[in-house]
Amino acid sequence: MPFKLQKKQVIKINCPELLHDLWENFLNLVFPPRNACFFCNDPADFNGICPGCQKKLNSYPGRLRCFRCGRYFLSAGEQNSLGLSENEKKSPTCFECRRAEPSYAFARAAGPYEGILMRAIWKFKYGGKTYLNKPLGGLLTEVVKSLIELGHSETNLKNGEIAGLVPVPLAKKRLRKRGFNQSEMLARIVSQNLGLPLLPLLNKIKETPAQTGLFREQRQSNLAGVFGVSQSKIPIGKSVILIDDVFTTGSTVSECSLVLLDAGLKSVFVATVTTSTIRKKADLTDPLATNTSNFSKTLTI
Ligand SMILES: [Zn+2]
Ligand SMILES: [Zn+2]
Repeated sequence: MPFKLQKKQVIKINCPELLHDLWENFLNLVFPPRNACFFCNDPADFNGICPGCQKKLNSYPGRLRCFRCGRYFLSAGEQNSLGLSENEKKSPTCFECRRAEPSYAFARAAGPYEGILMRAIWKFKYGGKTYLNKPLGGLLTEVVKSLIELGHSETNLKNGEIAGLVPVPLAKKRLRKRGFNQSEMLARIVSQNLGLPLLPLLNKIKETPAQTGLFREQRQSNLAGVFGVSQSKIPIGKSVILIDDVFTTGSTVSECSLVLLDAGLKSVFVATVTTSTIRKKADLTDPLATNTSNFSKTLTI
């Protein structure tokens, strides 16, 4: 018996990194670090974000993005090389949105899926740092506010017409494995911040099929039947904000939006923490004037 106990201790001593990570995760969960930046661990200001990260976050709204889907075209330093006219710079629309108009009204994110936000999303979803729901939910709150403003200025969205926040659902198997739905956790923070109801109107009936190498509308038709809707809870004729953590190609939120519109909603806006970046100038060309070489260039994005 004593020998067995010793053996167990030896195994534990051989895993110091794992133990350290577990202990750190436990401490972070019980006592979230207050003086370190949520994103980089540098000394933070009162809002839990250091001046360096705050500067980066402040720079994202000024970056060139597609007016409809909100994906970023290029980094700030590169965008001058596009040679866009002043008008195009105000509301450029990407190639994908021109080819197949999204079902949602507008999508917007707090920043690109890179650097500090990419790392924070990863730690939040897979690294056990669920307390990051607060700073990420705070960023998402600002995105939702800007979407509502955009709705007022660009569509006929009326005051009080937003019925609530709809999180993108996870399949039951994934939910069991992860233990939480990140979109719902984020939507809950926005709901607390803005007083908008949380509306879990969608459920995921099937796993997402493989999407690689498909165009947006192909990806979306590939997703047909993946999402179900709680029809009896639909606020008919109202609008909602769909909430997700990452906007990659937009096919998931497009399909969710389509299901909600079919169920009787007037319009759907999409808010995510991060979105992807388009790096090809071909995306700015008009599809009516686009030849096959431009078309195939866009395929490589
Ligand atoms: Zn920082
Ligand atoms: Zn677009």
